[in-house]
Amino acid sequence: MSDVLVLNKKFYAIHITTWQKAFSLLYIDHASVVDEEYKTYSFSDWKDISQEISGHPSGFVHTPSFKIAIPEVILLRFYDELPPMDIKFTRKNIYEHYRYKCCYCGKKKTTSELNLEHVIPVSRGGATDWLNVVISCIPCNLKKAARTPQEAGMKLQVVPGKPDWKGPISLCFKTGLKMKASWQKFIDNVYWNAELE
Ligand SMILES: [Zn+2]
Repeated sequence: MSDVLVLNKKFYAIHITTWQKAFSLLYIDHASVVDEEYKTYSFSDWKDISQEISGHPSGFVHTPSFKIAIPEVILLRFYDELPPMDIKFTRKNIYEHYRYKCCYCGKKKTTSELNLEHVIPVSRGGATDWLNVVISCIPCNLKKAARTPQEAGMKLQVVPGKPDWKGPISLCFKTGLKMKASWQKFIDNVYWNAELE
C-alpha cells in the first residue's frame, strides 16, 4: 500500500520501508514522523495531529478509538550511519543511472531508442561492468561502432562508474519503487550534502 521513506537522524534518506514497519518504529519511539517543513513528531503528537486533518496523501489507519495518518517520511532517532547499497548491474539501473540520456550526445531518449554501449569494445577486451558500460542513442551507437571513443572522435559526456547510495535516486533503484513527491527533497538533500570522494 503505502511506503515510507526512512531518514537517519541527520536527515539523510537511507531506506524505504512499509507503513506497518514505520508504525512499529514510531510506536516504540525509535522513530519520529517528519513533515514537509522538517518538523518531527512523536507517535502521540502525530496521533493528535491526525485527528485534526481530513485529507492525507498516504491515507489513514483506523483503529476503534482513533485514526492515524500514514507518514510519508520518518526519521530514525538513534541511527546516524549511511548503509552501503549495492546497486545491481541491470539494464534498468544503467538507464536510470544515466537518466535516459545518451552518454555521447547528451540527448534524452526513450528506452527503445537507447542501447547499452561498451566504451572499450568487447572485441578489445572491454569489460561488461559499471566502469565500461554506458548508454547511447542508436545514431551515436552506429557512429561509434566497434571503436574506442577516441578512435571514433566522440567524447563521453559522463564518467562511467557505479552509482552508490549518494545518488539521489539510488534508493528507488534499489527497491524499484516509485519516488513520492514528498520524498524528493530528502533524497536531494543526500545528493547535495554528500561528502565527495
Ligand atoms: Zn547520442
